[in-house]
Amino acid sequence: MTPPKYRLSKQRKVILEELMKVTSHPTADEVYDMVRTIIPRISLGTVYRNLEFLCSQGLAIKVGPAGSQKRFDANPNPHPHIRCEHCGKVEDVHEDVVIPSLSPGSTMGYELTGCSVEFVGICPSCAAVNH
Ligand SMILES: [Zn+2]
Ligand SMILES: [Zn+2]
Repeated sequence: MTPPKYRLSKQRKVILEELMKVTSHPTADEVYDMVRTIIPRISLGTVYRNLEFLCSQGLAIKVGPAGSQKRFDANPNPHPHIRCEHCGKVEDVHEDVVIPSLSPGSTMGYELTGCSVEFVGICPSCAAVNH
């Protein structure tokens, strides 16, 4: 394993490692439950702050619509997601979709940090319950 570009504290390392083990795009609460099995004394606030830090360093991203509970993804490379608007589950789409880009004249002075592509629908388990 190559050493990380950033010095990560043990807590941050464990949080990132746990996040990398799953593709379920867990919420901070879910990451907290996973990390607590390794660091029982960690607090939810610490987990939350470290998740924000990992995102600020480009090691993880936040997914999902603004205003809802944030979900985290240890794959910071742009990739499309599909979200169930009923249960809120977010999954990776395994198809190469062209991520839209803006020409420099259209960024309205924003320094772009990313672009998310999210498909929305009803997942099979929610669809099954409603029939
Ligand atoms: Zn669902
Ligand atoms: Zn993802």
